[in-house]
Amino acid sequence: MIQTWTLNHQLTWLPQTESRPGELTDEGDQWMERRPTGNARVVCTCGYSTDLVDRSALPSNDDLREHHNPRI
Ligand SMILES: [Zn+2]
Repeated sequence: MIQTWTLNHQLTWLPQTESRPGELTDEGDQWMERRPTGNARVVCTCGYSTDLVDRSALPSNDDLREHHNPRI
């Protein structure tokens, strides 16, 4: 008997960052400085996506894991 295919879910957390050129070093090198803005988005391979929001406004980890459950 052939089994049906089940859609897989793979969540990825995408933190937003910003960058700027740093000060020149004594050797004349210049590095980029990068920092998180505090905003993030979570996406899933099924098409689910949160908005880009402050990290504290993201759904809980339990809710994210159950995003494909109709109760959410
Ligand atoms: Zn999913």
